[in-house]
Amino acid sequence: MDAITGLKELLSTPADIVITTHQRPDGDAMGSSLALYHYLKKKGHRPTVISPTDYPDFLQWMPGNESVIIFDKEPKKSQQLVESARLIFCADFNKLYRLHELGKIIEQSAAAKVLIDHHLEPDHFSAVQFWNPSACSTAELVYDLIEKMGDTSLIDLNIATAIYTGILTDTDRFRIPSTSPLVHRIAASLLELGIDHTRIYEEVYETFTESRLRFFGYCIREKLEIIKPLRTGIVALETEDLKKFHIQSGDTEGVVNYPLWIKGVMMSALIIQRPDEVKLSFRSKGGFAVNELARDHFGGGGHKNAAGGTSRLSVAETREKLIAILAPLKNKLNS
Ligand code: 5GP
Ligand code: MN
Repeated sequence: MDAITGLKELLSTPADIVITTHQRPDGDAMGSSLALYHYLKKKGHRPTVISPTDYPDFLQWMPGNESVIIFDKEPKKSQQLVESARLIFCADFNKLYRLHELGKIIEQSAAAKVLIDHHLEPDHFSAVQFWNPSACSTAELVYDLIEKMGDTSLIDLNIATAIYTGILTDTDRFRIPSTSPLVHRIAASLLELGIDHTRIYEEVYETFTESRLRFFGYCIREKLEIIKPLRTGIVALETEDLKKFHIQSGDTEGVVNYPLWIKGVMMSALIIQRPDEVKLSFRSKGGFAVNELARDHFGGGGHKNAAGGTSRLSVAETREKLIAILAPLKNKLNS
């Protein structure tokens, strides 16, 4: 059975639905979740979005945001919602471990899971998979899904705004290679519906605190290390660096892109001390596949030019490990 037939069957009677996404959600995670929320509500269901963790202010303006439950803050309520859900939509992640504790609860639930995602190598935990690794964003897939369900006419300003936010952020402002002609056509149709694309851009990218902007400056001026033979830029941040600028989770979003602004730099890594682990973010230009690097050495994954993983070593040791891994890949980075 194809995904749409399966989904139509699952949605044939009103259902309690949980929509969830990966921890520390980004614009696509929240955009696609909230787009699904508004869509499913319009279809007569009772959806709730549960995010595993909190997320930054620049994503908190979207329509429907006030209804989102944060698992970390309300674990009991989240658990009850998961247990009473008949359906669980899993948006923008491919493996349940990306939800930490919430993933374990979802794994145990008997609800039918619907995966909507564009990350490579998804685990098989869902009854229905609406999956396409060529999609620029999960938000693109939500648009595609609504269209294939025959419900394009249900797309209103709320749904359109959420989808546009997901596309805007996951394509890094319509920049990355998977920004296909179709993506621009979808964006055009969202504009025709009347979304305020200038306001969406401002809400996402132009709502820094002064401290956050100065932190970006600090990262570039004091923390950026360029390893010329490897055509790589690394920013490694300790807890003190984050404290100095009152950096919250999400405030570091975007730092990893700057090293790639330098001509000849092909790969960038951001290494951050989080409370429970060291987190790595990778970006690359051209052929160097950072998802393979993340998968093979840092228990992570993602896309060819944008991926992430974790490390149990210290920040300094993680930096050394990364350089040691990259050294024999010198030719690939220079090709
Ligand atoms: P970011 O660097 O923005 O956190 O993530 C870049 C991309 O890699 C995103 O598509 C994200 O979902 C994916 N990613 C980041 N961290 C992990 C991880 O620990 N595991 C997996 N499988 N994917 C990750
Ligand atoms: Mn995404």
